[in-house]
Amino acid sequence: MDRETVMDAAREASQRAYAPYSNFHVGAAILTAGGKVYSGSNIENASYGLSICAESNAATTMAFADPEDRNIELVAVYSPNASPCFPCGACRQFLREFGCKEVVVVDGSGLRRYPFEEILPNSFGPEVL
Ligand code: ZN
Repeated sequence: MDRETVMDAAREASQRAYAPYSNFHVGAAILTAGGKVYSGSNIENASYGLSICAESNAATTMAFADPEDRNIELVAVYSPNASPCFPCGACRQFLREFGCKEVVVVDGSGLRRYPFEEILPNSFGPEVL
């Protein structure tokens, strides 16, 4: 599956954001090693700290859907409010748990690819424990 298709899923997911407080809509789509795509949007809460980011939302959906296919090849992130839109620090760590290899964002000139090591260098992961 190509990166544009995964980004299309992220774009579509951003349209389903629940962001009544920030009005900052984000969609994320994860491509797994098994070739499946799982998407999510940000879901805010009146108790702000309980809000869930699109990337973490997509990752939890992935982790629940198929315990045999929890390795992330890439995550595409899209927001109509920010171009490019990168994962927050907490989501970088969350994606790291599942071995994310690449982050894909979009700006005015198209898709931008970042090796995960560049997004979260010297990271802490499951192999340390
Ligand atoms: Zn986040």
